[in-house]
Amino acid sequence: MEDLKKYSKEELIKLIKENKITFVDFTDSGICPTCFDRENNNILYGNNKDKIIYEDEDIECFLVGNPRANGHTAISSKKHYKDMMDIDDELCKKVFTFSKKLMNIIKEVYGSESVYLCTMCDGPMNHFHIQLIPRYSNEKRGSKNFVKPRFNYVEDKEKLERLRELIKE
Ligand SMILES: [Zn+2]
Repeated sequence: MEDLKKYSKEELIKLIKENKITFVDFTDSGICPTCFDRENNNILYGNNKDKIIYEDEDIECFLVGNPRANGHTAISSKKHYKDMMDIDDELCKKVFTFSKKLMNIIKEVYGSESVYLCTMCDGPMNHFHIQLIPRYSNEKRGSKNFVKPRFNYVEDKEKLERLRELIKE
């Protein structure tokens, strides 16, 4: 593994554009890929404004671009924290209260039987986020739902608008 810390910001952007490095290399090099992405025009993950469900000064919540289930959602902090062990109690309360509300909304809007929650920020550097993954009635219960195969996000405007409305209430 190459240490990306030896490169300038401009060199890193060039390497990303040439598909020579990915977010994994950032994590391995101890550079937060999420913060780099946000500071550099979404160069790593692409613009997700069309997938945003909710945003305020502390958190951002959006539908995942390569979901494991319809309604697969991520919630991340605006401020940098390495993982959940790093966040303060106030943010912890806010994120989990928000997650609870959104899990109920996802269940209702997508008609899933349950919604799973996980956070597994790992490696030398990561950016705190939580994932909510719906489990549908035709799917078996259990931890395999965390590793269902990923697919490309397809926009469902009606559901997206419904999520945005309900989370504001
Ligand atoms: Zn970060």
